Amino acid sequence: MIPVVVVLHRCAVSSSWPDRVFEAKHIAGAGEQDMQDDLPDDLTASQYIGYDKFLGGLLQEGFDEVSCRSRYQFARYHKNFTRIPSSYLLERLRRQEALQKKCGPGTKSYKQAVKLLRSSQGVNMTTDCNYLFLTVHAGLGNRMLEIASAFLYALLTNRILLLDRYQEIGDLFCEPFPGTSWLMPSDFPLNYGEFTQSSPESYGNMLQNKVVGDNTDRSLAGSRPPYVFLYLDGNYEFHDKLFFCEDDQQFLQDVPWLIMRTDMYFIPSLFLIPSYQDELSRLFPEKDAVFHHLARYLFHPTNSIWYSVKGYYRSYLAKANKTVGIQIRIFEKEGILQKNGRFPYVLEQILSCAQNEKLLPEISMKDEAEAPTATKNNQTIAVLTTSLSSWYSNQIQKKYSEHPTVDGTRVEVYQPSHEEYQRSKNKKHNMKALAEIYLLSMTDVLITSGFSTFGYAAQGLSGLTPWIMFRSENHAMPDPPCRRAMSIEPCFHQAPFYDCKAKRNADLGKMVPFVRHCEDVSWGLKVVNQTQW
Ligand code: GDP
Repeated sequence: MIPVVVVLHRCAVSSSWPDRVFEAKHIAGAGEQDMQDDLPDDLTASQYIGYDKFLGGLLQEGFDEVSCRSRYQFARYHKNFTRIPSSYLLERLRRQEALQKKCGPGTKSYKQAVKLLRSSQGVNMTTDCNYLFLTVHAGLGNRMLEIASAFLYALLTNRILLLDRYQEIGDLFCEPFPGTSWLMPSDFPLNYGEFTQSSPESYGNMLQNKVVGDNTDRSLAGSRPPYVFLYLDGNYEFHDKLFFCEDDQQFLQDVPWLIMRTDMYFIPSLFLIPSYQDELSRLFPEKDAVFHHLARYLFHPTNSIWYSVKGYYRSYLAKANKTVGIQIRIFEKEGILQKNGRFPYVLEQILSCAQNEKLLPEISMKDEAEAPTATKNNQTIAVLTTSLSSWYSNQIQKKYSEHPTVDGTRVEVYQPSHEEYQRSKNKKHNMKALAEIYLLSMTDVLITSGFSTFGYAAQGLSGLTPWIMFRSENHAMPDPPCRRAMSIEPCFHQAPFYDCKAKRNADLGKMVPFVRHCEDVSWGLKVVNQTQW
């Protein structure tokens, strides 16, 4: 079962993560018992009819099922299959898989490409494969968005995607590509951990120092470098952002190794680069399903996480008539009177959003004992809250247990963990976070906190358009408390605002109808499914 289980309805049970992992394995079964796991035991037979474990062709047959249960079981727990991947996307994924295998770790091509990094001759050597190495960091939602962005960029530019093996990626996710690994081998020769924005290898720095020509001409001032470091973290600057310009893409095309550091979902800006637009339209005819398909293709939680997810789902969510996921992320700095992330206006915001939008029933002013039996309707809503704090879910449960609901529906509130503060370098902490992102993605209705990539990851996996709770500007509940999102796509928080063609700053949310400003981050960009204004 999942980390620290807090059953907030009636009783509170808690346990440490390792015990729960063990218990979860026991529930789901390991080894021989795993085979029984293929039998449906938590959903009705009719719910299984037509479920497609290959996710419309995103996944291929032939992976070992036992070592990574989530890959083919995801479809059982996700009812929303309205977004069908295009046949062109499937074709390109197969091509990318072949490339990953041909050029991946251990191959002749890989060894030759690594030699290039070690060699002082640099460009005089040739490589038959080009690489994109992503140095993963940040919180888990950010990581999923940055990996998906890097993968799409690799696919668009015919590069092999490799990830930093030291960031617990292997503990969190199964390998997505058949017959090869996406983890960079440990003998990678560069000291990439020491690269910073101001390193001479950084592309922004190279532009600033005119190593690769000036802003209008990206022709080589010197020889082609064997590698370039791309600094695309949220605090990047003007020259770093020129990565999103056509000329710069032309230049980078010939660099064998790109080493990328980012903590963002930069795909919306790829949609603004002319040479990628046609390809992106063919890959994603439904433009707002980019992350949805990529996340379902790339991310498969490892067995211990998946068993936790399934165990928790079966124990607390499966039997409810409806499930509502509420992701609560507090970005407020704590004041003296607001200890431990307890902000009463956020509680008010959650309840107002859920009740105004009819996602949860109103609470009657009568006591539980006074409610006539006739008004009880035998319906149960299971609310899954996720938060670093347990206060919000405790308060929501308290409200629903003290008084009946106006329509007699029973509301039960569950929260798998309350970690209190973010510890993104801690493996178990990240495993809990991933389990909760998946649990949120299994609910029928989703309320998320604006600005949070944790929520974006859950909505993308589920394919559900969430209600977004806005961040308060003045420590008071925003009005309205939430709004339905324009699309299920994540927001690119620190999108550039430089018009490369016009060579001046411009409003890039008004260039094409399918890239708009986000609901929750007014200066950010997100992809929507619009072809006209
Ligand atoms: P963001 O900061 O909201 O954009 O989301 P990230 O996922 O990138 O970073 C926040 C990190 O804080 C998560 O990855 C977790 O480590 C932790 N965290 C935040 N909210 C939750 C939560 O509801 N549950 C758990 N288990 N961890 C959380």
